[in-house]
Amino acid sequence: MSTPTYPKMAVVGCGLIGSSVIRGARAAGAVGAVAVADASVVARQRIAELGFADSVTGDVAEAVKDADLVVFAVPVMAMDEAAKAAAGAFKPGCTITDVGSVKGAPAEAMAAHAPQSCFVIPGHPIAGTEQSGPDAGFAELFHNRWTILTPQARTDADYQAAVERLTEFWTRLGANVELMDEKHHDLVLAVTSHLPHLIAYNIVGTAADLEGVTRGEVMKYSAGGFRDFTRIAASDPTMWRDVFLANKDAVLEILGRFTEDLQALSRAIRWGEGDKLFELFSRTRDIRRGIIAAGQETAEANFGRDHRAP
Ligand code: NAP
Repeated sequence: MSTPTYPKMAVVGCGLIGSSVIRGARAAGAVGAVAVADASVVARQRIAELGFADSVTGDVAEAVKDADLVVFAVPVMAMDEAAKAAAGAFKPGCTITDVGSVKGAPAEAMAAHAPQSCFVIPGHPIAGTEQSGPDAGFAELFHNRWTILTPQARTDADYQAAVERLTEFWTRLGANVELMDEKHHDLVLAVTSHLPHLIAYNIVGTAADLEGVTRGEVMKYSAGGFRDFTRIAASDPTMWRDVFLANKDAVLEILGRFTEDLQALSRAIRWGEGDKLFELFSRTRDIRRGIIAAGQETAEANFGRDHRAP
């Protein structure tokens, strides 16, 4: 057996992502013992039945107390409450990270409640599905996906070593790790993930409200592009409400730009400017081909499941 990167890991919030981290870490031998804290009684019962953790509790302080690595995998707006519940119980010198889809707010929450001796290294695995809960997780979720770490502005050797150790952990789970400034992360993800979700929620809502198009027709002809939007629009409402609230500034900035571009498109359609439409559609087709070439296309390497990138 290979040596675990962390002898003990605590996961706070054990749904899709938390349980995938545990399953992946177990499969890779990257952790020794695993403690779980989850607020949901139903989830706790399921986690105990599934048997992938050594202990399951509703008490966050109890779960984190001996852990060398603490992973917060709760919805973004619950990070502060979860980190506050752990404050005072963190093991000195432990690494504290998260998996939140937004980095600004969780980073602040963890830093506010962590003792000086601990290493706060926010993180975000760019992998997921529209499912939730501990049953939805699987060990291969992070294979060949990016995990972005947004380290604090610390240059001391101990902190650098902690970042390297966390990088090793994610690499053992199959992820490619990139370091990024947290503000930049939130802007990039606003474009690549948050805005697409907002558009999907909006278009599915618009179609549902349209008079003159029956619900039956929406279902029947959904293969005409609408079906892909419905999959994204089925994503967890709590998680996505939190993403938009926590990444308000970046999302509004990108949304403003998007609205301007949409108006330009609408003008091109109105005035019959086919060349403008053709030029845009050709450019976007090249982007799609680039994504496939980079191995980030969802239909490939996904073990039969969806690896979208929230
Ligand atoms: P999930 O399946 O809904 O699981 C979250 C779990 O955390 C639930 O069991 C929830 O219980 C529990 N919880 C909530 N507040 C808590 C607290 N204060 N203390 C302890 N447990 C608490 O969520 P998920 O999809 O794994 O998402 C978790 C995080 O990963 C989010 O920050 C999200 O932004 C990020 N992320 C998600 C994806 C994705 O595709 N889903 C991808 C990348 C990153 P209740 O149900 O009772 O609230």
